[in-house]
Amino acid sequence: MIDLHCHSTRSDGSEPPARVVELAAAAGCEAVALTDHDTTSGNGEAGGRARELGVGFVPGCEVSCRFSPGTLHLLCYFVDEGGGPLPDLLARLRGDRETRNERLVARLNELGFPISLELVEAAAGGGEIGRPHFARVLAETGAVASYQDAFDSLLGKGGPAYIPKAFVDPSDAIAAATASGALTVLAHPFSLGLEPAGLEAAVAELAAAGLTGLECLYGRYSPEDRAGLLGVARRHGLVATGGSDYHGSFKPDLSVGTGTGDLDVPVSALDELRARLA
Ligand code: AMP
Ligand code: FE
Ligand code: FE
Ligand code: ZN
Repeated sequence: MIDLHCHSTRSDGSEPPARVVELAAAAGCEAVALTDHDTTSGNGEAGGRARELGVGFVPGCEVSCRFSPGTLHLLCYFVDEGGGPLPDLLARLRGDRETRNERLVARLNELGFPISLELVEAAAGGGEIGRPHFARVLAETGAVASYQDAFDSLLGKGGPAYIPKAFVDPSDAIAAATASGALTVLAHPFSLGLEPAGLEAAVAELAAAGLTGLECLYGRYSPEDRAGLLGVARRHGLVATGGSDYHGSFKPDLSVGTGTGDLDVPVSALDELRARLA
């Protein structure tokens, strides 16, 4: 078993990069990828721990792309094996995030919530700050009923405190990753918010733009949905990959390796990715 989708404290996970790898080893994973949002900063620490534990490691990241009606997340793998435009793209996205966080604090203050950037920074523990950290502060200070309530009533798409992030076009992100020697995989494909025919067309377009894989075996998808996605991947010549989308205590129902309990991504998925890299 392997897990190709995990977050750490370097973005919106609750556990440090080394701990994520330790959890992967304990779960019996032969390999694990770290895929923090907009940053590759945890890959050194995670890769080091993976070597110590004898676990395979794939340095990665996850990039949010411009898309409607839903959201499009692109997983990038083998990101440390070259410089090129991907690090520049990630730096730009992180810069935009900082501006957005300041605007988010101002908006929440306007709405009467006594939140500060310092509080959110403390919640993020030095990693990239995102809405989950705002949600945690709002819940912990009793400003909202719960972490989820913060999204439902304020931070979620269309909510009074929703401030969109900077987005990159999917084809530009694929091109940047490819030019940097990385591979791209479409994460949790149903988040595109499309009906089967629309999803099929979107995947065809992404494949034409250079996409390598489809995250068919996703922690939260049913066996039927995973099987359907395997068909989509096959029809478009994409590698069928998978992962838990582990976020630690932010998504407590998801574990490294096993997802909600039944996830079992085969090592062959990583072998196929490596073959495409060559
Ligand atoms: P950001 O990158 O700052 O926009 O935050 C995105 C993260 O917020 C996602 O990875 C989810 O973990 C979380 N998130 C976004 N929308 C929701 C929602 N409606 N309910 C719960 N969590 C959400
Ligand atoms: Fe996340
Ligand atoms: Fe995602
Ligand atoms: Zn993710």
